[in-house]
Amino acid sequence: MRDSSYYCLFAQFFIVLALNGCTASEQSSISNLKQNKIPLEDIYIIKNVNIIPMTPENKTIKNATVVIKNKKILSINSRISDKASSIIDGRGKWLIPGLIDMHVHNLADVNFSANYPTKGATLFAKTQHFMLLYIANAVTTVFELSARVEHFGQRNEILKGQVIGPRVALAFLIDGGNVSGNVANTPSDGRQTVRIAKAQGYEFIKLYSGLDTETFKAIVDEANKQGMKVVGHIPNAFRGRLREAFIPHFDMVAHAEEYSKQSKDLSDEDARGFATLAKNNGTWLTPTLTTMVWIANQTRSLDGVRNLPSLKYVHPLMQSKWLNSNHYNQETDPKRVARIDDMVNFHLRLVKAFKEAGVPIVAGTDAGVSGVVWGYSLHDELELLVKAGLTTEEALASATRLPATWLKLGDKIGTVEVGKYADLVLLDANPLENIHNTRKISGVFANGRWISKKIIGTMLNDLEKWNNNNKDKFDWKNRSEY
Ligand SMILES: [Zn+2]
Repeated sequence: MRDSSYYCLFAQFFIVLALNGCTASEQSSISNLKQNKIPLEDIYIIKNVNIIPMTPENKTIKNATVVIKNKKILSINSRISDKASSIIDGRGKWLIPGLIDMHVHNLADVNFSANYPTKGATLFAKTQHFMLLYIANAVTTVFELSARVEHFGQRNEILKGQVIGPRVALAFLIDGGNVSGNVANTPSDGRQTVRIAKAQGYEFIKLYSGLDTETFKAIVDEANKQGMKVVGHIPNAFRGRLREAFIPHFDMVAHAEEYSKQSKDLSDEDARGFATLAKNNGTWLTPTLTTMVWIANQTRSLDGVRNLPSLKYVHPLMQSKWLNSNHYNQETDPKRVARIDDMVNFHLRLVKAFKEAGVPIVAGTDAGVSGVVWGYSLHDELELLVKAGLTTEEALASATRLPATWLKLGDKIGTVEVGKYADLVLLDANPLENIHNTRKISGVFANGRWISKKIIGTMLNDLEKWNNNNKDKFDWKNRSEY
């Protein structure tokens, strides 16, 4: 491990180890969860639905008619003569924008064994298995924070309609020190690395813990020149000199933990000081509260992971890793447990302080860390944000309008408005009354395609069966033998 961070211990890991695999020969013979049978109609009409638009005014529109045409919201409550191919009954239901997870690590093809020219991956992603977890949880956009070339391929599969999945924004991770991956140890190397990332098609830069202070500053500056926003850790080199990291265009901090690492006593006073720094610099926050809760949980016992209802949807190899090679659980002692509990508590207070200072907060999960299941974990995060002191509306904004704005997608997604893409969630209950209601999903529009609860249920059942049937084939400890 290259730093003392509890979060994102696996961020780098995922660059080389992320996977979702079966062997190539297996892949062709496995049904692809029948996603090709989900039609994409030209026109859908949702009738009698209550809309929570999540615009800044957010005025609920009762008993509305929404027309979706060619993947976009064509009209809300205006007379349209078009005949719909599909009519959805929205009576008693609530329509919100599709959810956005601002911190994920997606599984992708990976080479686990010794390399040689022409080698390629040894384990192959089944993209639909993996992306289903997002769609099943109404997550229609994700921000991949350690992107590599395989993630472009996954995104193309989704864009081509071969896989039902979310929109994917890709951040190129740059670290410093003597490590593998994309590394820069001088300001000029930092600038060149940003330019290479831009040329390769990455949209964002992720800053990592090992960068030295001057290289960090050069990367942030160059990224701005290249029109790329940056999100990141606060490098360890800024310990005790945090203020220096807050330079123009350091756009977002990726974890609350980046601040708690800087606090000796985890006091409210420190939380307020950090909030002021962030506010004055225009630096947003993705707290990733759920990850630290899960780390605390696993540091005590693996029962929480073992009994997790969504574990059955996690790839068998990752199940094996989380249950049998779980380093949070292996390296535990009472002092560590107490320290992590204190951090969980501090992060809740930190979120409150940031809210009170007016720092925009967006929902992200660090999905991929053990226990943090893709898709499902975003609902946990929303609940934790409310526990920390956000209103239900603020929590919803943190996973809809605000992240869309940060990603520069505010004109396309993030609210329910005419002209936006139909990334939408139909809920059986009002999430403004209780944030738990984001889990009561009646169906999802992903890029204009309606996926009903029934279809989601069938696909999840297929996935569970596949995972169970293939359990014996995957053992984390033997991964280099594949
Ligand atoms: Zn991460």
